[in-house]
Amino acid sequence: MTDQYAVIGNPIGHTKSPLIHGIFANESRQDMSYTAIEGPIEPADAFVSVVRAFAAKGGKGINITAPFKLKAFAMSDECSERAELAGAANALKFENGRIVADNFDGIGLVRDIEVNLHLPMEGKRVLMLGAGGAVRGALLPFLAARPAEMVIANRNIAKGHALATQVSGRGPLVACGYPDLEQMGRFDLVVNATSASLTDDLPPVPPGVFSPQGTAYELAYGKGLTPFLRLARNAGVHGVADGVGMLVEQAAEAFLWWRGVRPSTSAVIDRLSVPLA
Ligand code: NDP
Repeated sequence: MTDQYAVIGNPIGHTKSPLIHGIFANESRQDMSYTAIEGPIEPADAFVSVVRAFAAKGGKGINITAPFKLKAFAMSDECSERAELAGAANALKFENGRIVADNFDGIGLVRDIEVNLHLPMEGKRVLMLGAGGAVRGALLPFLAARPAEMVIANRNIAKGHALATQVSGRGPLVACGYPDLEQMGRFDLVVNATSASLTDDLPPVPPGVFSPQGTAYELAYGKGLTPFLRLARNAGVHGVADGVGMLVEQAAEAFLWWRGVRPSTSAVIDRLSVPLA
């Protein structure tokens, strides 16, 4: 019988996951289907019922997107360390009646930066803007890449500090507010992991953090040159990228976890990329 997978979110019309997993499945000749499910926001426990019903009908795994990543994590029986730190899951696997949670957003981002963009982070100064779910998922994979220094800057400074405290001892991580960045010099890699770009907004990052030889990475995708990427370009940065590679790489990690096969990603990234001009 064809194995069933899905992505669940609300809204879900924008999702590229069925296209991406469809290409992966075709290419690796996996007998599987992958659909999109609009998850219920109300009542509060309806999301869990929909996921359980999907598993009961023979579903093997499901991707989770906004706003259900926390609920998906909370309903799992076991999880990876990175999902635990994030307190959020972007993929579940249904195995022998148990629900296993993982979070591939961070590892997908690191793979896009290190493998696709050929930018090893070891020994580099890395600045991450934001302290939301995406940053929580990315911290352990980033620190595992052994940057010389990693700084997270957030509007809500206490939130950033709490996150840094949670991973203290795992690597050279400090948290600060945006005004503190004026004194911190240039970074090799600046990652915008805020949701500001979704509303065409710009986090209050000083242009002095960019290094012309460095890279600016925007987690949002499909939006062309966002205000953050434009700021980086104006500061002389040539290397700019958006989150389409992260999207495809996190999908590939989930596919590998579910199916035991690593799909190739470059053609899918090319197909989904929009020009950053
Ligand atoms: P969250 O809602 O969890 O966190 C939002 C973060 O953005 C918070 O740190 C918040 O700061 C900050 N923020 C929001 N608006 C502003 C602003 N105007 N100026 C400064 N900071 C701001 O979002 P996620 O972490 O889940 O997602 C972040 C981004 O990453 C989104 O654009 C999302 O689309 C993208 N993403 C991309 C993925 C991909 O595959 N490419 C995967 C996952 C996410 P504060 O805490 O102070 O409120």
